[in-house]
Amino acid sequence: MTQTHLLMGSAAILPFRGKALAPAALVGAALPDLPMYIFVLVARIMDWSRQEMWRDYYWRDELQIPMGWVNSIPIYAAIFALGLALKRPWIWGLALAALLHCVTDLLLHHHDGHMHFYPFSDFRFESPISYWDDRHHANWWRPIELVMGLGFCVLLARRYRRWWQRGLVALAGLFYVVLPLLWFWH
Ligand SMILES: [Zn+2]
Repeated sequence: MTQTHLLMGSAAILPFRGKALAPAALVGAALPDLPMYIFVLVARIMDWSRQEMWRDYYWRDELQIPMGWVNSIPIYAAIFALGLALKRPWIWGLALAALLHCVTDLLLHHHDGHMHFYPFSDFRFESPISYWDDRHHANWWRPIELVMGLGFCVLLARRYRRWWQRGLVALAGLFYVVLPLLWFWH
């Protein structure tokens, strides 16, 4: 889920220069899902049914190609190396969070994965585990993801000590638990 990516990206850069890199890490962690949010917004505006959305429009090039670009492991690896070479922490911090997003997505999509090596290859890994599909063990993955996300909240709260920073982390943690519950009840 995007919210887990955001928490994981911000927690992953803590051992480096965590606080200064936090905005870059948040952008990097969100970037690979950006076309998907535009897609969902367009689907709402066009009033597509769920069926049309996920069986048809999802697979069209208009979405798959931009998703390929923003989910490309080699592109982020190159940006990461460039950031190191230029000594620009925000560049490699952003790329590191995006890379983490792409690798975890690769491990947690069954038939609906992205092109991980675009534009060099259109290969998509079919993981035995899906983060959302119960036919591929999402039912036991979900609680693990929830515990991991809350663990990241704890790590962040230990590092960010100001009251408003802790308030933000607590709010994120609260949303983090509430959102999946709403999804279950939906
Ligand atoms: Zn993603």
